[in-house]
Amino acid sequence: MPGWLPSLFRRAGATALTDRRGECVYAGCPHYRKCFIERAERAGREADLVIANHALVMVNAARGRPDAPTRILFDEGHHLFDAADSTFAAALTGQEAIEMRRWIVGPEGKSRGRRRGLAARLLDVCSYDDQGAEALDAAVEAARALPSDGWLGRLAEGAPFGPVEALLHEVRGTVYARSKAQEAGYGLETELAEPDAALIAAATAALESLEALAKPLAALVRRLEAILENAPDWLDSQARARVEGAITGLTWRRETLSAWIGLLGRVGGVADPDFVDWLAIDRVEGREYDIGLHRHWLDPTRPLARAVLEPAHGVLVTSATLRGPKAGRAPRHGPGRCTCRQRSAISRRRARSTMGRNRKCSSSPTSRAATSPGWRGPMQG
Ligand code: SF4
Repeated sequence: MPGWLPSLFRRAGATALTDRRGECVYAGCPHYRKCFIERAERAGREADLVIANHALVMVNAARGRPDAPTRILFDEGHHLFDAADSTFAAALTGQEAIEMRRWIVGPEGKSRGRRRGLAARLLDVCSYDDQGAEALDAAVEAARALPSDGWLGRLAEGAPFGPVEALLHEVRGTVYARSKAQEAGYGLETELAEPDAALIAAATAALESLEALAKPLAALVRRLEAILENAPDWLDSQARARVEGAITGLTWRRETLSAWIGLLGRVGGVADPDFVDWLAIDRVEGREYDIGLHRHWLDPTRPLARAVLEPAHGVLVTSATLRGPKAGRAPRHGPGRCTCRQRSAISRRRARSTMGRNRKCSSSPTSRAATSPGWRGPMQG
């Protein structure tokens, strides 16, 4: 990204230019042909050598892109564990859910974004295919159950709207009820253990609403695939690219929804030993900016091995601080041996998964955001 570009944006700065949750709508965007991000991405597909950060390599591999690289060199390999941890995690938070709603429904009320909803992007498809139009209408209707603008204020006032906001309200109440550091101002967390009846009931209602959204999205993908297969006359290369972009975007949303549904299914049930789940309120100096449920792999090298390492023809990891195992010792974790640094991270997670209540988080929320690629990927095993 050119260094001068973020300075043109006063309010949101460089974050306004990032694609953090797959917001790009590809050929559905009027700037697609001249967009510098997409141009670089298309050029990267033809290049012999692509230099990218860990998160981007993992996200592309996890999304199963056919043109994902087959020979990978990870420099600064001691950061791989953290990058995999962020990439293969799931977060059902207000910010993530509202992004999902906006991607499907589009701008609402007085908001003047450049983004258009799914219905606007697929207008020609839906006027041609009745079943597709039906699925799209059902998806837009179901997406209205997700949080909307002003959700944080409604939660603070105790007046949530819709099942997902009601769930986040219960999450907020549970975290504060277990916290001893409410006045400290930093982020608060508590493990997802022994939830009370109100939290379980809210999770059940939210789960049903997410399932109600997942079904029409699946039906819409099937209709779009059918249109590509029996292409009508009007489906020129531009329309085809737009439909393909919509299928890709819908597939990622369905994966995210399925991770959220899995996480909610665990509330009140038996904990999965492969994951660490917790509830969190993200705050900066006492000001809340996100609330939700989080799920991370206990050992993120497992999804890393399956999604990134196994399909590759060759992977080389280099690091000045990475240490190999001593000769003759068997691997202790996952498909490969891990470093002392990784082992200590896994130990911390084990401690966290068995930790009692009243846990507080002393880390600044911004420190976690700094290591996150922003995309909450599927819980691939
Ligand atoms: S939505 Fe448009 S401007 Fe944004 S990254 Fe995609 S093609 Fe570029």
